[in-house]
This record gives sequence, C-alpha cells and structure tokens, in this order.
Amino acid sequence: MTTTPTRTAVVTGAARGIGAGVAKRLAADGFAVAVLDLDEAAGKPVVEAIESAGGRALAVGVDVSDEAAVQAGVERVAEQLGEPSVLVNNAGIIRDNLLFRMTADDWDAVMGVHLRGSFLMSRAVQGYMTKAGWGRIVNLSSTSALGNRGQANYSAAKAGLQGFTKTLAIELGKFGVTVNAIAPGFIETEMTAATAERIGVPFEEFKKGAAAQIPVARTGLPEDIAHAVSFFASEGAGFVSGQVLYVAGGPTA
Ligand code: NAP
Repeated sequence: MTTTPTRTAVVTGAARGIGAGVAKRLAADGFAVAVLDLDEAAGKPVVEAIESAGGRALAVGVDVSDEAAVQAGVERVAEQLGEPSVLVNNAGIIRDNLLFRMTADDWDAVMGVHLRGSFLMSRAVQGYMTKAGWGRIVNLSSTSALGNRGQANYSAAKAGLQGFTKTLAIELGKFGVTVNAIAPGFIETEMTAATAERIGVPFEEFKKGAAAQIPVARTGLPEDIAHAVSFFASEGAGFVSGQVLYVAGGPTA
C-alpha cells in the first residue's frame, strides 16, 4: 500500500487571530503547518495545540517584509517540516488615520507587511510548488479593498493584493498552482479589538454595532475564514484560481 506524503502549509502571522485559526484548520485537514510570525515564541502555543491534536507543526520567527528573513525562514521550513505546498499570506497590520494625518511611515509599514510581505513569501515558495507541479497560495484581502474611511494605506494594500492574486494565478496556473484571495469582513480578533480601543468604544458594543449591519446578524470568527482557506487549499479546488471570495456575512458592493 502506498501512502500520500504529508503536504506542508505555511501560514504567516499565525501566532494569533485569523492566522492561528487557519493554521489549526489546515493541520486538522492533514497538512504539516509552519506557524510563521514576527516572534517565534508567540507561535509556540499554536504549535502545541496542533501537536496535542495529533498534527505536525513548527514555529518560525520571520518578519515577512524582510527579504533575507523570508528566504531563511522558508528554507528552514523546507528542511525541518517539508517543502511548502500551501502558502497563506495572512500577516497584517493596521496604521489607520485620515489622509491628512497619515504619515509616510504609516503608509510604508502597511505596504511593507501586506504587499511586499506577500510578494517576498510567494516568490520564496513558488519554486517548491512549480517543481512539485502542485501548489496553493491564498492571500488575505479585506472588504476594506472597496474603500474604508481612515484606511487609505490598508485599503490600497488590500486592493493591491487582489491584482497580485490574479497575476500570480495567470503566471503559475500551468504549474498546477492556484492563487486565490479571501476578503474578510468584520472578524473578531486583536486587530478589530485594537480598532475599538482606538475609537474609544468597548469591544462588545463595537461588535454589536457591526453585527447590526451584517445580513447574517453576527460578526465573523477566525474559523469562518479558516473554512474558506481550507476549500482553496483542497485537492478539489484545482480549477478555482484568481478569485476573490468575500467572507463577510452578506453581499458586498
Ligand atoms: P491580528 O490579530 O492583528 O494578527 C496578525 C498577526 O500578524 C500577528 O500575530 C502579528 O504579529 C503578525 N504580523 C504582523 N506583522 C508581521 C510581519 N511583518 N511578519 C510576520 N508576522 C507579522 O490580525 P487578524 O485580525 O488575525 O488579521 C489577519 C489578516 O486578515 C490580516 O492580513 C488582516 O489585514 C486580514 N483581515 C482581518 C480582518 C478582521 O476583521 N480581523 C478583516 C479583513 C482582513 P505581532 O503580534 O507580533 O504584531
């Protein structure tokens, strides 16, 4: 009897929030999972949770906007866990401000993590995927790509990721690699909690206000996004590429 070797998935920004939910779901789906985050130690609890559920995982400290760190981190994953077959570009930051108050540093920091980070990570893993003739890249966009007050930097980056997704889908398709984007709406994480804090509204109240605007009448959870990632990463999704899936509890403009 032959057994299929375990495929390896790399999830960036996986120490908490959506990334942690995605890492756990892909491990449950049977992938060995590299938990990448700025701080390696912060990824360890996610690795332990995956291992105690019977999976395989590795915490790796990588700043996705740092070219050398990305290269070294991906090589370490390939050596210690397995050559990457799936990449989820999830690491993200916000530096919200109205345009007239937004600094060039706020702009550069957001572009650096979302756009430069996704570019560097995708470039670093694509060789393994094209060689294997199989791969899945999933980029985290956002409903903010459609425009959101105070987020000129973030919405530009998230819209940019949609163009990036479509171009990679065109370039990598013939190598068996699909590339898709997920655009979440409001998901309960430290990112949305930080926004509530910044505008001085208790998080519970902030969530209630958001839920009132969402057709399914609730805010999202990391598991909601993990489920969509699981679909894009699956064997059966090989004919789905270059798509942007809004996971927002209702239609978006
Ligand atoms: P989160 O709770 O703030 O988690 C983001 C993670 O990314 C953190 O662990 C953070 O590490 C890490 N990170 C930041 N900069 C990094 C870098 N340069 N290199 C590696 N890791 C880095 O955010 P989230 O809400 O889970 O969001 C995950 C993704 O979904 C982001 O791309 C976000 O833009 C997108 N998204 C979120 C929502 C939402 O409602 N939450 C909606 C739409 C899209 P540190 O803790 O060390 O900073």
